[in-house]
Amino acid sequence: MYPETFEGFAIPSAEEWNHPKRFEFKPKPFGDYDIDVKIIACGVCGSDVHTATGGWGNKNWPLVPGHEIIGHAVKVGPKVTTVKVGDRVGVGAQISACLECNICKEDNETYCKQQLDTYGSIYPDGTLAHGGYSSHIRAHEHFTFPIPEKLESELAAPMLCAGLTAYSPLVRNGAGPGKKVGILGIGGIGHFGILFSKALGAETYAISRSARKKDDAMAMGADGFLETQVEGWNKDHEMTFDLILSTASSNDDFSLTPYLSLLKVHGKFIAVGLPEGEGWRLAPQNLLSNGCLIGSSHLGSRKETLAMLELAADQGIKSWVETIPVGEEGCGQALTRVHENDVRYRFTLVDYDKQFS
Ligand SMILES: [Zn+2]
Ligand SMILES: [Zn+2]
Repeated sequence: MYPETFEGFAIPSAEEWNHPKRFEFKPKPFGDYDIDVKIIACGVCGSDVHTATGGWGNKNWPLVPGHEIIGHAVKVGPKVTTVKVGDRVGVGAQISACLECNICKEDNETYCKQQLDTYGSIYPDGTLAHGGYSSHIRAHEHFTFPIPEKLESELAAPMLCAGLTAYSPLVRNGAGPGKKVGILGIGGIGHFGILFSKALGAETYAISRSARKKDDAMAMGADGFLETQVEGWNKDHEMTFDLILSTASSNDDFSLTPYLSLLKVHGKFIAVGLPEGEGWRLAPQNLLSNGCLIGSSHLGSRKETLAMLELAADQGIKSWVETIPVGEEGCGQALTRVHENDVRYRFTLVDYDKQFS
């Protein structure tokens, strides 16, 4: 039990990816800049499923997933200045970086060569990092974010991975007043794409295969909806978009060309969905008609995380969340339903006090 050991719900193996089991584990040694967080809520991310099923190549079992964590600081290291015991804080999908290299110093710590994911990575001392389906998490203060009072815990949790994954590339690629932005795929990340693109002031279109999510997308604030199974869906919008943020998590029957045709000259297609498997086939010729640019984006910086949380608090942005009690059953259910895309649009695990006394 805490403080010697933490307790969580771990995936025993890829074969049993949706049957997590109660599990005790030792955290990494406590450092001067570390904070122990007693968890009260955690979002369930698509990454949790890709990792649990072994689809992304995880080989470290048992493993506790979860990287959209909200809780209260219960212990702070002697050099911590940004958090006090008792503060409500969040921990997202990144738990460490060197914080000394030029990449880190330019607020690109998410691209640091030494960046560590919140779960599944190995600390320098050999400890396997476990995530937020657990009683506590130990994190460096740089990766521990004060949560504005106005944000409810279960709505703030999914912002820490899905929200940031949408927010950072929107900001970095100029989403704002006078810009036309497309959000491809309306799932966990995509719904934040719509919410944050609107909050940043951009004209925002949802792009989805069928009209099934149209009402939801419009309720999130989208200015328009493009249904890609309709013949000629892209014709009226060719060369009008400044930016498309793709959150598509499957490559089945996916051709980039009609999406790229939407972009203005040198418009950008930024993909943050990470499908399993081989990916796109692409030739330079596919980019010639508008000289468009293709890129990706990993999470975001601490600065961006704090700015995103402030924007969400100021504008009263509400994540669309279903809550589910943490536990062997609840975690298993949430993983299964995320795997089946059966969630509007994110799960947050709650009721931690009932599992961890
Ligand atoms: Zn995630
Ligand atoms: Zn670094």
